[in-house]
Amino acid sequence: MSHVITMIKARRWLILRRISQLSIMFLFLLGPLFDYWILKGNLSSSLFLDKIPMSDPYLLLQSWLAGHDLFKTALIGGLIIFSLYFLIGGRVYCSWVCPLNIVTDLAAWIREKLNIKGKKRQFSPNRFIRYWVLALTLLLSMVSGVLVWETINPVSLLHRGILFGMGIGWLVILFIFLFDIFISPRGWCGHLCPVGAFYSLIGFFSLVKVNAVNRQQCDDCMDCYAVCPEPQVLKPALKGEKNGITPLIASGNCTNCFRCIDVCSVNVFKMGLRFNK
Ligand code: SF4
Ligand code: SF4
Repeated sequence: MSHVITMIKARRWLILRRISQLSIMFLFLLGPLFDYWILKGNLSSSLFLDKIPMSDPYLLLQSWLAGHDLFKTALIGGLIIFSLYFLIGGRVYCSWVCPLNIVTDLAAWIREKLNIKGKKRQFSPNRFIRYWVLALTLLLSMVSGVLVWETINPVSLLHRGILFGMGIGWLVILFIFLFDIFISPRGWCGHLCPVGAFYSLIGFFSLVKVNAVNRQQCDDCMDCYAVCPEPQVLKPALKGEKNGITPLIASGNCTNCFRCIDVCSVNVFKMGLRFNK
């Protein structure tokens, strides 16, 4: 029994994240399945308790660039979601909400179990490419007047697919799954996804941040680098003391998944606010 409790404790943030991702999906499903409407709509645009609008600010930006009229309710919904992620961390969307994160986390786990490692076995595109993809999606909306990205956005495809069925959209998800396992570790979320890129821009300024507050205790075991989906964000906070860099994980690409807190045996990391440097 104590073994189970220890195992749960060591994965408490992972368990909470999965509960969050599945609960959000469940709330969306309650309406279509049982006519019990807590959340009406989908991740792009929804209504909470028939009163509070919520809109994806990235989708709104694409719509605005495409020349579509933006309704007041959608703008209020966009402001609500923007403010939420501004407070709790932009890429909290990735680790606590996005259904595709479950697929890409599973791919990373399978890749590890299959022991597919080594530089020769991986293709690692520059992590900045996602910002070019983001810019391209916005440009395409502007020149075409159509939300081009939304027709193939795997996050929306998966979410709508779970709610309403998705036909060949599953092939896109399968491609990402296999791409992450066999070609590029964490290739989609860590290098290419423009949705994650958009939310990272909000996260750069957000209030809730992870802090390597006890970095002097770090024994270089590298466990946090192994579990972090964006390991490049760790080094400045862990090793920047000599250069006067604060222990705050400042990058907007930290997803606030708190895996590093779970895995660190000497309790280097804590959740905190950006002002606690
Ligand atoms: S990077 Fe994209 S696919 Fe991955 S979790 Fe974030 S929004 Fe979802
Ligand atoms: S630094 Fe920690 S909280 Fe941020 S992405 Fe990496 S493991 Fe998750």
